[in-house]
Amino acid sequence: MTIEVKNIVKQFGSFKALDGVDLKVADGELLALLGPSGSGKTTLLRIIAGLDWPDAGEVKFDGQDALTRGAGERNVGFVFQHYALFRHMSVFENVAFGLRVQPRKIRKTEAQIRARVKELLDLVQLDWLADRYPSQLSGGQRQRIALARALAIEPRILLLDEPFGALDAKVRKELRQWLRTLHEEIHVTSIFVTHDQEEALEVANRIVVMDKGKIEQIGTPGDVYDNPASAFVHSFIGESIVLPVDVREGQVKLGARALNIDAGSAVGPSKLFVRRHDMHVGAVGEGALEGTVRRVRTFGPIQRADIALNGDDTLVEIDAPRDRPLTTGDAVSLQPRRYRIFAGQ
Ligand code: ATP
Repeated sequence: MTIEVKNIVKQFGSFKALDGVDLKVADGELLALLGPSGSGKTTLLRIIAGLDWPDAGEVKFDGQDALTRGAGERNVGFVFQHYALFRHMSVFENVAFGLRVQPRKIRKTEAQIRARVKELLDLVQLDWLADRYPSQLSGGQRQRIALARALAIEPRILLLDEPFGALDAKVRKELRQWLRTLHEEIHVTSIFVTHDQEEALEVANRIVVMDKGKIEQIGTPGDVYDNPASAFVHSFIGESIVLPVDVREGQVKLGARALNIDAGSAVGPSKLFVRRHDMHVGAVGEGALEGTVRRVRTFGPIQRADIALNGDDTLVEIDAPRDRPLTTGDAVSLQPRRYRIFAGQ
């Protein structure tokens, strides 16, 4: 099923939590909503789910108005960060719940319900836990059961709000890969909220980057990483070096030093963004910037160095391969290999 969100505005009092949001989700896509805390991700998800209503705008499922339908009539499954499974029900009964409360007309027989629950528990690879109670499960197992429960009614849309947010880093990483594989198998149109860029980059087909109630960029993980559309996206996704520069007549200056790089369309006070690994370290005279190595650490195949620039005014942290070891006190030059300049202070 496709989802179309048009010009959604949502205010809480005088505060605009969503400020003109437009979004199209293709059938079978797995889309991540990524943004810092308070950017409006959950509010947008709740509006799509039918748990909240916008002040203006449209939500369409397969071209049909969804806003006239309540949450129960939208055929949407949800998983939240703290999805309370029913504590007094076994895993089996938790997954069966949505099927047991379906309207009589479409309700399955007991045998069909048992078969469906078995199928779902197989899908999330937890059939061996069917008789346990939620308190006897790990956090990761609970979220997988919550997902099986959300899928029981065969929703046309699956909405996940930080489903792995409460789990430790290792389990999160496993579940991300697991979700990706599961989605390839079931192919239900899904929206996944996260504030973790690595999670979005790893799981999603496309990423929607949000800030302050607006969409900053929509693109594939490769697009948003390689071609960030704004200073916000550049600094939110990936680790960036940010240097204040001044652009006059096409020339980019850091303090008094003219840098031999292309200004693009920026004019006046601007910011130069370079990923840490895109700053090439060379001998003095080879690059646009010159500085002194202050500290070096090694992380597996890379060395991370703090380099003082601009007569010691500015410290940047770069990642370089270890084939040419850097030492504290070395005079070096830096040349941005890939970079972006965005106008503004
Ligand atoms: P997080 O990652 O912290 O969950 P989010 O991007 O999901 O953040 P939302 O929960 O959508 O952000 O909230 C967006 C803004 O709207 C926040 O500033 C929040 O305080 C505000 N907000 C959300 N719900 C309400 C409400 N019921 N009443 C008043 N303000 C609200």
